[in-house]
Amino acid sequence: MTEARTRDGKRVRASEIAQLPPDAKPLTCRYCDVRVEGVGAYFKGKDGPRPTVVAAHFRLDDGGRHADECAYNAEEVLRAIARASQGLAQIDDAGRLRLVLPAGPGERTPARPQPGTAEPDGGRGASLTFTTVRPAVPPALNSAAKIAHFLALHDFDSRAVARFRVLYGDATRPIPWSRFCYPARAATGLHQLLADGQQPRHPVAVHGTVQRVSDLTRPTAYATLHAAAPRPGGRPFAVRLRTDRPALLAPLRPGTSVLAVGTWSLWPEADELRLWLSAHWQLAHWTTHPGTGEPTAIACPPPLPPEPPRPRPAAKRGTTLPTRQPRTAPPSAPPSADVPPPAAPDDGDYLLAPPRPIAAVPADAPANIPPRPSRPPTAHLTDGS
Ligand SMILES: [Zn+2]
Repeated sequence: MTEARTRDGKRVRASEIAQLPPDAKPLTCRYCDVRVEGVGAYFKGKDGPRPTVVAAHFRLDDGGRHADECAYNAEEVLRAIARASQGLAQIDDAGRLRLVLPAGPGERTPARPQPGTAEPDGGRGASLTFTTVRPAVPPALNSAAKIAHFLALHDFDSRAVARFRVLYGDATRPIPWSRFCYPARAATGLHQLLADGQQPRHPVAVHGTVQRVSDLTRPTAYATLHAAAPRPGGRPFAVRLRTDRPALLAPLRPGTSVLAVGTWSLWPEADELRLWLSAHWQLAHWTTHPGTGEPTAIACPPPLPPEPPRPRPAAKRGTTLPTRQPRTAPPSAPPSADVPPPAAPDDGDYLLAPPRPIAAVPADAPANIPPRPSRPPTAHLTDGS
């Protein structure tokens, strides 16, 4: 847990544990009355090959248990997510939650319990497409948002993350959650994968908090989830959602929690990790209830009206369009535009750069595997974990 309450009810964060006065105890859970204790940051596996820092956190006192309705109660949260998932999320015998992501509108969908409208994908490959149930959030995205919210409450603790897995399409072996969903402030792994020319063959989600939304009256809009995410041994990079359909970003405000799903790409010239949004079901947004810690009002942007067909620009030789690219170029930023100079780290208001060739690799591929020929992620996922 990342937050708790002192004896007099004051909210404290785990980063403040070292400064807590003795009379702050006993500490209780942020959202229920169970006793907790603070654990300062420490090194784990100090003498082993991969020492890691365990961040400061709060843990239950021996024998303690969160109230059923507490947002930190993992068992109850998992059960609630499964119940509301319309069959897409199931708890296995080991107590882990497995979420199924439908692969595409023309393929078998594990659960289609309500009348809905499949979002047309334009034949651009089997990237993520959910069944849309208007006006609600598609069930897989809704479940993924709740999981991301739960993990954020636990500061993406590896033991909490290990409780969730994803099945994509018709694959039978699950993807670890840590390879499906990245926190925006710690998306280094995704950045590195893309920088190495390896494109995951399944949709990827990034979860974060909106820091800034651009002027939506302009044809190229963006929302910044992180202006300068740290990267060990390299320059910080920005994490942004971009679109030529600004209505998709209209519900977002600074402080809004979001989960954005699709094919992420790098724009190295601007040190940017970005997702091009072309449909409402790629984005879930919500706020956090201050009293209960639960995600409230999980929603998607309103569905977009269909776009009139326009001719697609021909891809330049040697350039492969990733699955989720704009169907047409914004008027002010044709894909063939020269690469603009990098902007300041907190300013994403520049022209779009042409996509770089990317190659698809399996989710479980080691880092040194040679990239495969670039193509849409149609093959089924395999993962050894
Ligand atoms: Zn609790």
